[in-house]
Amino acid sequence: MSDAIQSLVNNNQVYASEGYAVPPPFSMVKTFPRNQVVAIVSCADPRLSPEEFLKLPKYMHPIINVAGGRAKNALRSLLVYEHHFGLAGIVVVHHTDCGMTHVTDDALCATFGARARALGEANPEKGKNMQMEIDSMEWDEITGRDVHASVKSDVKYLRDYPLFSEGLKVVGLVFDLQTGRVEQVE
Ligand SMILES: [Zn+2]
Repeated sequence: MSDAIQSLVNNNQVYASEGYAVPPPFSMVKTFPRNQVVAIVSCADPRLSPEEFLKLPKYMHPIINVAGGRAKNALRSLLVYEHHFGLAGIVVVHHTDCGMTHVTDDALCATFGARARALGEANPEKGKNMQMEIDSMEWDEITGRDVHASVKSDVKYLRDYPLFSEGLKVVGLVFDLQTGRVEQVE
């Protein structure tokens, strides 16, 4: 194990011995009223933490962190939570200076395409399969660094998605890393 990972695992020894509070069992969590469970889709970027900037109460709101906070990438998790709770709403959070505004789909395809080609030299079948996977992946770059447009697009995607319960509310926020404030944009 790398030193960086080992130190994290070691941290847990301290954490668990410092008054760990056991959360309620899933059977109880499942009984939370439907009109209270709102899922948060946010970016995996460690500079923002919805638990903190939305002051989320404990155990109530599932948080799905994916690169850029892109809705399509979060869909599988959202449907699992919809199954368990019947979601009342979804909040999509994108943020300023997001890593997905500093990369393009083409650049991601180039990076992993090169690796697929290298794999293909030793194992053509594997290389071909990996290339197909890369080509079919929805990388979802945020074009023009416009996180307001990307939030609006993801909110529309979720509002139009037909498998959620009727009446699901979807709201889009942009979190400003400089001020700590969110702006509701949709
Ligand atoms: Zn981000």
